[in-house]
Amino acid sequence: MSKIRLGVFPAFLRISGRPVVIVGEGAEAAAKLRLVLETDAVPRLVAKAPVRELAALIVGHDVEHHARGFRDADLDGAVLVFAASGDRPTDESVVAAARARGVPANAVDHPELCDFYTPALINRAPVAIAIGSSGAGPVLTQKLRARIEALLPPRLGQLAALAATFRPAAEKTVPAGAMRRRFWSRFFEGRVADQVYAGRTDLARREASRLLGDVDGAADGFVSLVGAGPGAEDLLTLRAQRALLAADVIVHDRLVPAGIIALGRRDAARIDVGKTKGCHSKSQYEINAILVREARTGRRVVRLKAGDPLVFGRAGEEMAALREAGIAFEIVPGVTSALAAAAEAEIPLTLRGVASGLVFATGHNQAGDTLPGWAGLALSGASIAVYMARSVAGKVAGRLLEAGLAATTPVVVIENATRDERRLFAGALADLPALADHRDVTGPALILIGQAVAQGALADAEPLAACETLAA
Ligand code: SAH
Repeated sequence: MSKIRLGVFPAFLRISGRPVVIVGEGAEAAAKLRLVLETDAVPRLVAKAPVRELAALIVGHDVEHHARGFRDADLDGAVLVFAASGDRPTDESVVAAARARGVPANAVDHPELCDFYTPALINRAPVAIAIGSSGAGPVLTQKLRARIEALLPPRLGQLAALAATFRPAAEKTVPAGAMRRRFWSRFFEGRVADQVYAGRTDLARREASRLLGDVDGAADGFVSLVGAGPGAEDLLTLRAQRALLAADVIVHDRLVPAGIIALGRRDAARIDVGKTKGCHSKSQYEINAILVREARTGRRVVRLKAGDPLVFGRAGEEMAALREAGIAFEIVPGVTSALAAAAEAEIPLTLRGVASGLVFATGHNQAGDTLPGWAGLALSGASIAVYMARSVAGKVAGRLLEAGLAATTPVVVIENATRDERRLFAGALADLPALADHRDVTGPALILIGQAVAQGALADAEPLAACETLAA
């Protein structure tokens, strides 16, 4: 197949303060007006009887509105015109008038009448990304738009705007050529960008000034403590995905699925701290040391953890180590497994008149004992999510019964929530100790306890009680 060449030339037209004309009174005209309102052009709308949607836009914005039919003089001083009347003869006459005056025209739904096509727009002002298919597939360009949108930080425009304010200083103090490219590369990728994306423009400005004086210095390492969610790849947040794509090193746990680790760049180093050859995991002390070591070499490190990093993820210890070492870091939250498990079993974790609180608890404390602290909360009607508690299910049940919670209190156990080998067990608090006998439950499992649990979709759940499991 011979190479297809573009029949269009993508360009960014300067329209600030200049009229862009829209002729039409329906939904199409409204769509074009909305687009023009993303710019600082002066929208000039010719619409005799605007539909409600269009009228609302006129009221809410600075629009030069002419409530009558189109006249050639409407094009005076215009940079562009959209013929969106929905009536072909009208659109044709608008296009003809535009051509006579040398104003580029677009006729909605009539590609053959168009001098230019409207792209799908990703607006991160002052950065703009326009996607076009030369009129061939607006649905395609919309889909592409959604995918590119997801990859770009929402505050990208702020970063570009900040860069513009530093341009004169950079030109004055940083020698042109490799040095200046290095400055900008570090500006757009390092701490300056991190601070802007985190909404801390003041700190970003300070970092940028520092960078101006130290372009030659070693690159700054940075650590993102990222929640990978409960397992399903599409429960990863967009921010987590972006952090993964930017990472030079990915330090991950055993519970993070390979598919998510694979989302990182191919050339990123991967360090599995969940297990070593000898099959035991690295100590927290060793993990902290790895994070500090990698960041000190100037790398961008992603510490990837199952669920949310702040929920039983030992992020507290890692943050302390990073602070002590003076290494900048951020936290990217993830969907914690209790929420994913509840969603899968359709269990409302809080419910009016039934459950007015939610406890994230675990069966262990540092010494390995079951923690009784939250038993009282269970009594007062909170839903309880117990992490890591399979091996101590018996102890947890014992403590709750001792504290006075009814033996009939509904209990659900979800193994491998959002993963392929997902299993759901249901029963009552009295059945919970039987979980220890389910030797085939080897994946990560979570226990949900409380009256609200009974509201879940549990018809297909396996019984929790061991005797019934044996009988089945
Ligand atoms: N930070 C994680 C929890 C880590 S502790 C989070 O926010 O989810 C590990 C425990 O999490 C496991 O023992 C199990 O109780 C729970 N867990 C993690 N992934 C799970 C999954 N897919 N299904 C059920 N429980 C899960």
